[in-house]
Formats: sequence, structure tokens, C-alpha cells
Amino acid sequence: ELRVRFAPSPTGPFHIGGARSALFNWLLARKEGGKLILRIEDTDLERSTSESEENIKASLRWLGIEWDEGIDVGGEYGPYRQTERLEIYRQYTEKLLANGKAYHCYCSEEELDAERQEQMNKGENPHYSGRCRHLSQADRERFIAEGRKPTVRFRVPENQQIVFKDMVRDTVSFESNGVGDFVIVKSDGIPVYNYAVVLDDALMKITHVIRAEEHLSNTPRQVLIYQALGLPLPQFGHISLILGKDRTKMSKRHGATSVEQYKNLGYLPEGIVNFLALLGWAPPGEEEIFNQQELIKQFSMDRVAKNPAVFDIDKLNYINAHYIKQASPELVTELALPHLKAAGYIGEDCPAEQKEWLVKVVAELQGYISYAAQITEHIDVFFNDDINFENEEAHEIMKDADIPKVMEAFKTKLAALETVEPAAVQAILKGITKELKLGGKKVYMPVRIAITGKMHGPELINLVPLIGRERTLARMESLLA
Ligand code: GLU
Repeated sequence: ELRVRFAPSPTGPFHIGGARSALFNWLLARKEGGKLILRIEDTDLERSTSESEENIKASLRWLGIEWDEGIDVGGEYGPYRQTERLEIYRQYTEKLLANGKAYHCYCSEEELDAERQEQMNKGENPHYSGRCRHLSQADRERFIAEGRKPTVRFRVPENQQIVFKDMVRDTVSFESNGVGDFVIVKSDGIPVYNYAVVLDDALMKITHVIRAEEHLSNTPRQVLIYQALGLPLPQFGHISLILGKDRTKMSKRHGATSVEQYKNLGYLPEGIVNFLALLGWAPPGEEEIFNQQELIKQFSMDRVAKNPAVFDIDKLNYINAHYIKQASPELVTELALPHLKAAGYIGEDCPAEQKEWLVKVVAELQGYISYAAQITEHIDVFFNDDINFENEEAHEIMKDADIPKVMEAFKTKLAALETVEPAAVQAILKGITKELKLGGKKVYMPVRIAITGKMHGPELINLVPLIGRERTLARMESLLA
């Protein structure tokens, strides 16, 4: 059975890159009928917070990435939070110490710094010299008497090729000599990432480790630990870096980087998931719009590329616009509401009647936007009665000789309407073209301009009922005065 995991460190906002890793694991699990395990890697005690853990879980759930085992849902191989597994790690550390594959190191930070400095001065790559590899009993006792707290270091075998297969990168190999004995347990007894991750992946029977490329350089150390413990290697798959459009590593400079920021802007989970799937994975055909079921069907690791993925916000917007168009106006309104409030269009509490009107307005606009917050860029025409010609061209159109007749006819007919609804407005406009023997363009465009100041925008016949008779007439009066 395929078992994959997502193992975030809860040290900050949930990054879009983390969501992409989670998604690839989830897609593979769903595709192969396997399991996705969610494990929290919180051994960085200073930076880990429960808010961040909550944010990660909420973001995953929002994206529809459900896990089968792990934190909150339980499972056979728990606990699933690393700080709750310290006793397990300790037992393995004892074994490694007993068979000489690891040793206590008493070097202080200052000593290690000095050593690094000396190596760099000589032009060498800094690495631990192995000073504590062969301590005498007397040295050890002296260090303990001095109150030094040891770390545990892994003894890296010399002159070895560390080789592993990677689903994305094929065979990867490193020289063991470049690695240097590394700390696996800090002096406070907390294991480091490279060590805990191996024990957890092995004990949780993870078959495929799919994670970001930035971990590729950690993998040789992890492979050495697997080997020292006689544990079978999982299949590794290191997925490409995510770069900004300028080809530098994606960062805050490139805009929103956390899942929550996109959620708050009114992106839809379907859009984000669709977009993230294409960051490093290439579908077999030309099609770029995939819902979750289609993604599961199409996804495969052999179409995951090793070259960096470029985070193209225009593409995200294009994809999300597709899902916004399909969404219910009620939902888009809900997502837009905080932004409409912030922009001052809506008061703190929005009465039911206004909400109902707003939903209809949003229905007219959702075809023009990529994410809900953009409603604020289009909605002014529904709120602001103080209209002006948007440009000289619009102004020119209104100087045509036929305009006064068209305007008079429209105002009179609108004033006489029983109920102002789209079909009735349509009938008025049609009637005017016939009576005045004018082409549609000579009627629709000027009426639109007279009501909005603009040459383009939402469907005119829907616009008028939403603005209402009084406001429509008042706008025409003031613009044409
Ligand atoms: N906790 C690590 C991280 O968030 C997990 C890396 C891995 O998947 O092994 O980067």
C-alpha cells in the first residue's frame, strides 16, 4: 500500500509551496488508493506555534486536502506530533550510541565556531573535524564535570558513495566525505529534523517521500541514517523550486505567499488547487482547467518536471476566474463582503434587503473578475450616482444629432414602466430603435453612457433594474444637463 506524508513545520504562515507539496502527496495517494499522513514537525521549539499548526490544518481543509491518518484523526503509528515522540527517538539514539554509529560530542558552540573559522581561513569547506569521535574516558569525565551537555553526532562513514533513486531526478549521488559527522540530537535532547524525519518516515511505514527540492541536500544524511539503522529506504521525489516571474525564489516581494492571503482575497480553493497542480506537474494534453477529480485521474509522478516552476499570477487569475464564473453569486458575495466593507460601499452590518440586491449586482460582475476582492474595482457604477464621461470618446458619442431624441424616448418610457425589470428594459430599447429607425448601436451605447458614463460594462438591461428607475433618471438628468 502506498503511504505518503505531508510533514510541515508549524513555524509561520502556511506557504503556497507547502500547499503544493501537500497537494502532490494527496493526489498521488488518491490516485493510487493509498494513504496520506499528516505529521507535525515541531522540533524547532522556539519557532513552532499552535496557531501555525491550526492555520496549516485549516488551510489544508479549505483546499480539500483531507488526510487519512495523523494529527487530529489518529492512526496506528502515532503520535503524529514530533514533540510527542521524543521517547521513541531516545530509544533509537541509545541503539546508535551502543553500536558506535553515533557518539556524544562535548564541543561548545565557541569551539565549533573557531574550528569552522580556521577551516575557512585555509580555504576548506567547513565541516566537523571529528574531534569527539574517540574521546578517552578521562576526557569525557572532565567535560561532564565542567557541566558540558553533549550533543549526539552521527558518525559518517568515510569514502562512501551515497546513492538513492529519485522519482523526479533519477539517480542522485553524493560523496560521504563532504558530509562531516552531524548532530542528530541537540544538547537539550531534542532531535534535529534530519534524524526525526527518518525515524518517523520509517516507523510510519512511509513508502514515498515527496517534498520540495530544498530538501534534496538533506537526503544524503537521511539515507546514511536509514542505512545505519538497517531500515529500508522509501522512494524519494524532490519536486522543483517555485520561482517568481523574475526567476528568483518565490518570496513576499512577489505578492501573496500564504494560502490564507489568497483565501482572504477571495480566491476559490478549486482555483488554487488547479493552479498549484500545474506548478511542476504537466498534464498530458493542452487542457489547463482540472477539477479535483480530474486531477486525481490525470496525475502521475512521471510528469513532474525537475526544472523550476514559475509562479505566474496571471495564470492563477485566469484559472481562478474560471471557477469564480461558475460559483454561486451568493458565495462570491460572501467572499467580497469584507472588501466591500473595507472600501466603504457597505456598512458594518449589511441588512438582508441590501444583501439580496448585492447578490444580484455580484451576479452581473462575477464574469469580469478573477477573485472576489476585485468586485470593488467594478462595483462603483452601482453605487455612485455622480457619474462623468469616462473619456473623450464617450463624450463625443453623446454629441450626435440623434441623441436628444433617444434620451427623451428612453426617459419617458422608463418613467411609464410598471415594473422595471430586464425584459421590460429590453422592450423599451428595441422599441426605440424601431421608432427612430436607428441601429442598435446608436441606442444601447448612448443609453449606457448616459447612465454610467462608460462605454462598456455589465448587461444594460440588467443594470437599469438594479440601479432602479429613480436613480437611473436622475443620473441621465445630471449627466446631460
Ligand atoms: N518539516 C519539513 C519542512 O517543513 C519537512 C520536510 C520533509 O518533507 O521531509 O520543510
